[in-house]
Amino acid sequence: MVLADLGRKLNAALSSLNRAPVVDDKVLDALLKEVCAALLETDVNVKLVQQLRSKVKTKVKATFESTADKAKETNRKQVVQKAIFDELVNLVDPGVEPYKPKKGHFNVIMAVGLQGNGKTTTCTKLAVHYQKRGFKSCIVCADTFRAGAFDQTRQSATKAKVAYFGSYTETDPVAIAAQGVAKFKKEKFEVIIVDTSGRHKQEGELFEEMVQIGNAVKPDMTVLILDASIGQAAEAQSRAFKESADFGAIIVTKMDGHAKGGGAISAVAATQTPIIFLGTGEHLTDLDRFSPQPFISKLLG
Ligand code: GDP
Repeated sequence: MVLADLGRKLNAALSSLNRAPVVDDKVLDALLKEVCAALLETDVNVKLVQQLRSKVKTKVKATFESTADKAKETNRKQVVQKAIFDELVNLVDPGVEPYKPKKGHFNVIMAVGLQGNGKTTTCTKLAVHYQKRGFKSCIVCADTFRAGAFDQTRQSATKAKVAYFGSYTETDPVAIAAQGVAKFKKEKFEVIIVDTSGRHKQEGELFEEMVQIGNAVKPDMTVLILDASIGQAAEAQSRAFKESADFGAIIVTKMDGHAKGGGAISAVAATQTPIIFLGTGEHLTDLDRFSPQPFISKLLG
């Protein structure tokens, strides 16, 4: 089920609430059952779904009991709708402000994630995004693991008219990262994006390499790049990356595809880290800024 389907199912559940003549426990339970089923089908972690259900119930009951105007059914419906909306927002909002690049400073952003999740593509998208907003931006390709990674960076960066650095001969990603960042700092670049190598699996060697690159370039923000189709594996994967790379933001890629997307939502809660952008296509401008409230409002149409 893609996110549009989730939106449709949530809306169907909420409109059945509107049709109910009275809002009692039975109606609330039936509504929450529908909402939770829709979230589970989208691959949102089962614990999070259970938490959402009990938080909505607690909030609604507390409000019903404390409201003087108990008789008005429309108020009761609004209370339920608001509680569900707020808890959906909480699912994608860890309440943490992500790092914001500052003009006139070096802002080093390091991208981490498993191979194929869209890291290299997203690095160029990020550089384009910040360049458009007046930041002198560039990319350092420290992915020496995947054959062709540097060529991919070179091609996409050239197309996007973004400066880049990498090497066909140097095999040490830490050395490339350090050299690239030092060169671009000297040249007064403001947003320096470091693309690290991925692997197919979470491996000790990959995490060790990320720690070393992190120590060498001292990123202001590390971003986990997560494929929207990750599903239930999101929790374990994001926790493993958090332990070694301590990322401060998440970008979910391939939101335009048929992915369910709910797994990525679980990564937010598992790591208490905000999503900052959604990748919505293969084109370099297919990057949407992410904010919890507008995202849920749009989902609910
Ligand atoms: P990396 O191995 O993590 O560096 O992944 P790449 O950047 O090479 O991306 C892997 C594939 O995913 C490529 O074919 C990209 O064009 C594609 N891709 C990346 N981001 C998106 C996205 O937001 N939407 C779609 N549809 N494809 C994407």
